[in-house]
Amino acid sequence: MKKIYVSYSEGYLSYDFGPGHPMRPERLEYFIKLLESIPLLKECSHIFQPEKASKNLLTLFHTEDYLQFVKESCSKGVGYLDSFDTPAFRGCFEAASLMVGGTLECVRRAEEGVPAFNVGGGYHHAYPDRASGFCIFNDVGVAVKFLESKNYRRILYFDMDAHHGDGVMYSFYDDPRLLCIDIHESGRYLFPGTGFENEIGVEDAEGLKVNIPLQPYSGDCEFEYILQEIVKPVVEWFKPEFIIMQCGGDSHWGDPITHLELSTYSYILATETLKEVAERYSSSRIVLLGGGGYNIFNTNRCWLSALATLLDISLPKYAPKKWLSLLDSYVHPYLLDRELTGREPGPIVKETVENLKELVLKPKGIV
Ligand SMILES: [Zn+2]
Repeated sequence: MKKIYVSYSEGYLSYDFGPGHPMRPERLEYFIKLLESIPLLKECSHIFQPEKASKNLLTLFHTEDYLQFVKESCSKGVGYLDSFDTPAFRGCFEAASLMVGGTLECVRRAEEGVPAFNVGGGYHHAYPDRASGFCIFNDVGVAVKFLESKNYRRILYFDMDAHHGDGVMYSFYDDPRLLCIDIHESGRYLFPGTGFENEIGVEDAEGLKVNIPLQPYSGDCEFEYILQEIVKPVVEWFKPEFIIMQCGGDSHWGDPITHLELSTYSYILATETLKEVAERYSSSRIVLLGGGGYNIFNTNRCWLSALATLLDISLPKYAPKKWLSLLDSYVHPYLLDRELTGREPGPIVKETVENLKELVLKPKGIV
């Protein structure tokens, strides 16, 4: 029987921007409850409690000045950590350090060849010296620096959150050790307004940053097309030694703050693709991170789909009744969506794919 490590602590619930903020900590708690209410998944999932990341580890990616600023804002507990959407709160330094600690412990455990999932990870907007988009510390950035310090030379970061993972992308823009593939809603329509296909990295990293913007209302058929035409060939060429996947649930069709229309099928397909690559090239060293997702029910279903795929487990048809009763609004009882494939991908995504073939695949001799 396969197994997976899952990082979770009640301390994760302290990462709370307060009532009215779209990022509710319950989405993490409910996910663990869902996982534990499906016997086969519960048996395979080894839930562990992470420690806070130390200052030495945080400064692998963040500046000392920024850590000091978060610490001071944390003790005041008022104001914003960025210009408009990441409020400071009492305990924010500790809560954000705990999330990073969870991702780092997942990385350490995955190094032994057992996949790991930090449901409280994937804070991809934070920069070395500033917070952004609900992200205080960038656990992905710290994890990549940690892996680099251990001499990994081919790390893959795959990001399917609806928002572009700008904090990761631009902080490693000239770093050839990190292949960054980011599928997101086009920056023309959504925060942070970046991640266009002509942004491919610089110097030795040219062609190793792959941005795939999607038009609003793109769905499974566009996502599947991109996986086949771009992601698979580039990843096969790169042969990653370690894989980090951010599976933000806000690309799902029911998300209230974005406009993509993926179903649980795309989460399964992406995880299947990376799992196969991990088995072939990285001795199953793969870490999944929760990322965004602002409809709790759908986000939990997307994460569960990804986790079950790594374990080769088919999900039951219905969500457990007791778990459904936690949710404060009526939802349908199914764990998986109906597949929404079979439609021809639209002309804009076809043009994006052709551009990426010219810019990224051809110079590598892939096509
Ligand atoms: Zn997002």
